[in-house]
Amino acid sequence: MSFFTNQLKVWFSQSHRPLPWKGEKDAYLIWLSEIILQQTRVEQGLPYFERFRERFPTVHDLANAPEDTIMKTWEGLGYYSRARNLHAAAKYIVHTLKGKFPSTYEGIRALKGVGPYTAAAIASFAYELPYAVVDGNVFRVLSRFWGIQTPIDSTEGKKQFANLADRALQASSLAPSQHNQAMMDFGAIHCKPKAPLCSHCPLNGQCAAFQNKKVDQLPVKSKKIKKKNRYFHYLVVNAGPQVMLRKRTEKDIWRNLYEFPVLEWPEAKASEQEIRRSAPWEACIGDRPARIEQISPPQQQTLTHQKIQAVFWEIHLEDEPPSISELAPYILADRKNLSNFAFPKIIDWYLGDNSLYLKLV
Ligand code: SF4
Repeated sequence: MSFFTNQLKVWFSQSHRPLPWKGEKDAYLIWLSEIILQQTRVEQGLPYFERFRERFPTVHDLANAPEDTIMKTWEGLGYYSRARNLHAAAKYIVHTLKGKFPSTYEGIRALKGVGPYTAAAIASFAYELPYAVVDGNVFRVLSRFWGIQTPIDSTEGKKQFANLADRALQASSLAPSQHNQAMMDFGAIHCKPKAPLCSHCPLNGQCAAFQNKKVDQLPVKSKKIKKKNRYFHYLVVNAGPQVMLRKRTEKDIWRNLYEFPVLEWPEAKASEQEIRRSAPWEACIGDRPARIEQISPPQQQTLTHQKIQAVFWEIHLEDEPPSISELAPYILADRKNLSNFAFPKIIDWYLGDNSLYLKLV
């Protein structure tokens, strides 16, 4: 640990990343800058910080300002709940805490809109309290130097990195504010996400990622669930006042819900010929004369593991439908009774736009 903290200290003493709030000890201004920088790049946040500092130089100015003025000053920065939280917290500080900004980690953390990262940043920068910040830069530096493969967005990873960051802060001879700043600056301008400056890095002698040629593989993020694409072609077979349905009974999505006869196909496009040759067509229509009257554009429904695209083919059967026994497991349902059936959402949407009814008037 001492190699890491000593080298970081040397690097920090030689590197400068000028930011207007650096060295700032006014907790109010530090808080302002940290809230503005949540989910925002430094370059984008800078002019907003300057504007807020100018218009609301103290927490009293912020608390007493009309919400409209605050929202106007925030305009364009996005995530507007941050501005509302800022205002609510300023009022709380002024009215409940008698204008005194909280000076403990717990007190800071209790402010609306302040999470563990922001609380650690304010506590260390304003009061030199020993709380390690763990932002994206810190995750990257720690995971690379120690070669940690635990996903940074997992519960286990968050704990592991927070623990390591705390140990690094405790081992450092820098003050908490300086050490935290050094960690964040090192990640932002040296151990960058892309093209980190490994060849002249003071840590490369003991950096696990560099030594094992794994720099571009760290940090690890849990893989997003890859959604499977499925394409359903629904045959909306209209026979007089009735339409054909079936119940989904197989071990699959939407079990026990009703749907139109369906052809599952490798893509959203299918030709009329392919539809006419399909198994559901064969079962529901066979050789009877039938007209394809309309084809819907693909409708989409996203499930946890699947993305469903459905195309609805409106078909008019020009002859008597098969008998009930011939048709099974398909059934004939009166269109006016369709609201009695439980359908997947994608079919409800389709029915909801009345296209089924419009077509048959
Ligand atoms: S050697 Fe490269 S990966 Fe390792 S800490 Fe330095 S810049 Fe980061």
